[in-house]
Amino acid sequence: MSNIIAIVGRPNVGKSTLFNRLTESRKAIVDDFSGVTRDRHYGIAEWTDKKFTVIDTGGYVAGSDDVFEAAIREQVVIAIEEATVLLFMVDVTTGVTDLDDEIADILRRSKKPVFVVVNKVDNNNLEHDSAVFYSLGLGDIYTISSMTGSGTGDLLDQVVSHL
Ligand code: GDP
Ligand code: MG
Repeated sequence: MSNIIAIVGRPNVGKSTLFNRLTESRKAIVDDFSGVTRDRHYGIAEWTDKKFTVIDTGGYVAGSDDVFEAAIREQVVIAIEEATVLLFMVDVTTGVTDLDDEIADILRRSKKPVFVVVNKVDNNNLEHDSAVFYSLGLGDIYTISSMTGSGTGDLLDQVVSHL
């Protein structure tokens, strides 16, 4: 595996929805592991003749908040090691959360390209709410709706240029 795109972010932002959208036509290889570090899904996807592996991180084990945050941090660290490009997904309907800021701190220290993907931008009104995510300090933001697919083409055009 050489071209690897990892989707990271806190729970419920829509990572798996995007993963399924990117991989569905290619019959995703989805194995359900339970456990903190093994809970990752790998799938195969293609965009404009470029083939790549997509990693969906998450499905975190319930526990104390400390364990939970540590598990998320661990997933991000593994993804940084493993991936060619990182998609950091956030949720326009919640704005920037503390956990988003924590993840951003880790990603900012990585040498890999990071794309801030603002998900759930299902309509143009929500476009205005997405500007708050510049405060993550990771540069440009990409607004998408994993549900409708809106914005995902533009995002992928940029992402595959790093592969
Ligand atoms: P994950 O925990 O980050 O993997 O998030 P999921 O993919 O499981 O999605 C969490 C919830 O957000 C689900 O109820 C999805 O249907 C919903 N969701 C995902 N993408 C979108 C989107 O683009 N717009 C809206 N409105 N909801 C979405
Ligand atoms: Mg998920």
